[in-house]
Amino acid sequence: MYRDHTKVVQIGDKKIGGGNPILIQSMTNTKTEDVKSTVAQILALEAAGCEIVRCTVPSREAAEALGEIKKQIHIPLVADIHFDYRMAVAAMENGADKIRINPGNIGGPEKIKAVVDTAKERNIPIRVGVNSGSLEKELVEKYHGVTAEGLVESALDKVKIIEAFDYDNLVISIKSSDVLMCVKAHELLAERTNYPLHVGITEAGTLYSGNIKSAVGLGIILYQGIGDTIRVSLTGDPVEEIKSAKRILKTLNLRKGGIEVVSCPTCGRTQIDLIGLANQVETMVQEFPLDIKVAVMGCVVNGPGEAKEADIGIAGGKGVGLLIKKGEIIRKVPEAELLGTLRRELENWEK
Ligand code: SF4
Repeated sequence: MYRDHTKVVQIGDKKIGGGNPILIQSMTNTKTEDVKSTVAQILALEAAGCEIVRCTVPSREAAEALGEIKKQIHIPLVADIHFDYRMAVAAMENGADKIRINPGNIGGPEKIKAVVDTAKERNIPIRVGVNSGSLEKELVEKYHGVTAEGLVESALDKVKIIEAFDYDNLVISIKSSDVLMCVKAHELLAERTNYPLHVGITEAGTLYSGNIKSAVGLGIILYQGIGDTIRVSLTGDPVEEIKSAKRILKTLNLRKGGIEVVSCPTCGRTQIDLIGLANQVETMVQEFPLDIKVAVMGCVVNGPGEAKEADIGIAGGKGVGLLIKKGEIIRKVPEAELLGTLRRELENWEK
């Protein structure tokens, strides 16, 4: 497993790398200097299970807001910097727990040195991030286009620039919206470095396509033992990114906890509003910190069988549903009372 052998990097009170649990990140989409909105969004992200949050720092006001934001949140805060090295320095002076830069776009060696010196003084990790969209012209020419090999070379070149200033408190990320290029780049990179990797499919898209691309890409990468922290990027509410990231990790058995809902696809036998019910159940179970499986099945053909595999389940009938626990039918419940009945069962669940 690559991730068992990566370097451990401390970000605020959290650790990534070296076999530590894969942490879930997201990024705010508020104006960072709007402290009230930014804090509200971070608290919502925390409640959903976000473990590290990143805010963009495009201005001095944004950098200065970090201090106030940090006082009101409970997870490490990462500053995202582009172009202006002074923002990186200011973000660290204002309490950023980590910074994300692309050393290729913040200016010459003196500017990079100023950033590294501040990081070194405060022992703040730097994430070196490269994106397929900003791959250097020379590498595009060398590899005849934007390729996984080019991305890896670019990332490792950037790492070397920082290592030359005698600093190795680093995390690397390589992002591409081309899923298979991203997979290949991570495979190549994992062979060549032991810095922890921040994994994500960038510009993945809306909720629908972004979730699919992220699940496929992150799924392949994580399954190979690569990746120490993840972000699912979606064009939407960042809270959705956390839900998806948690589901991806749980599906890969890389994280425990949370109720898993299984539900049938419905068919001509279904005689209750199973689609509506399954959606309501999925939302409802999120508030229960139980590590169990709930089955929501449309009929008694496969219902009881599937529900047997689950800890608790419902199998629909005509306007009614059977409540099933560990394969045993407990009782018949009118359709309108199914959700409430399930909720009460979960409330009284003995852990
Ligand atoms: S469980 Fe019943 S309703 Fe659901 S798909 Fe199977 S046969 Fe159809």
